[in-house]
Amino acid sequence: MADIRNIVILTGAGVSAESGIDTFRGGGGLWEKHRVEDVATPEAFARDPDLVLRFYDMRRAAIQEKEPNRAHAALARLDAEWPGDLLIVTQNVDDLHERAGARRVLHMHGTHLNAWCTACDARSRWTGPLIDRPPCPACGARALRPDVVWFGEMPYEMERIYGALQAADLFVSIGTSGAVYPAAGFVREARELGTQTLELNLERSQGSAWFDETRLGPAGELVPAWVDEMLG
Ligand SMILES: [Zn+2]
Repeated sequence: MADIRNIVILTGAGVSAESGIDTFRGGGGLWEKHRVEDVATPEAFARDPDLVLRFYDMRRAAIQEKEPNRAHAALARLDAEWPGDLLIVTQNVDDLHERAGARRVLHMHGTHLNAWCTACDARSRWTGPLIDRPPCPACGARALRPDVVWFGEMPYEMERIYGALQAADLFVSIGTSGAVYPAAGFVREARELGTQTLELNLERSQGSAWFDETRLGPAGELVPAWVDEMLG
């Protein structure tokens, strides 16, 4: 890891798993007994908005009960102390990176703690339920939905992410299967640019072959050790 100045870190479900946050890809493809296509697509929301809103209300409440773990804390320390550019691109929609103290965080799949108004496009911080169709704080319309990128929707801020990848000397993927595009394409982009690539994951992923180095183990152990190396 010589001559590293700019770092892009991609985090996924494996970083939040040790905080007790489960995901679609755990548990046989079901999520709290729901199929992905019944709760996490625009079509599901159009078909049965009550089901989708109630489901996300439950998730929004649940994540507020969880605490950041050692992986979040280590990344927050790296963010605070790293002198070069650094961007934590997270696929996670919880706020555990921020609650651990990280500042340079980009939520490419949105966040549970925002409501998005489909009438005026405003995003408002939101910690309570949406099932009762509360008015948008900006325009008053009762048209709020979770500010979460559903399957079939475009992830946020892709240009900014690719810009950061262009300038990066190191791309690190933590706790993500490498199976879902466009995030799965980041490592290929990094390789084409000649950027060093490192994967920290519980198990070998579909994308592992693309990385210069893969370290296997729990994020709560691997990430603090790696951060110690970087700041050493
Ligand atoms: Zn509005």
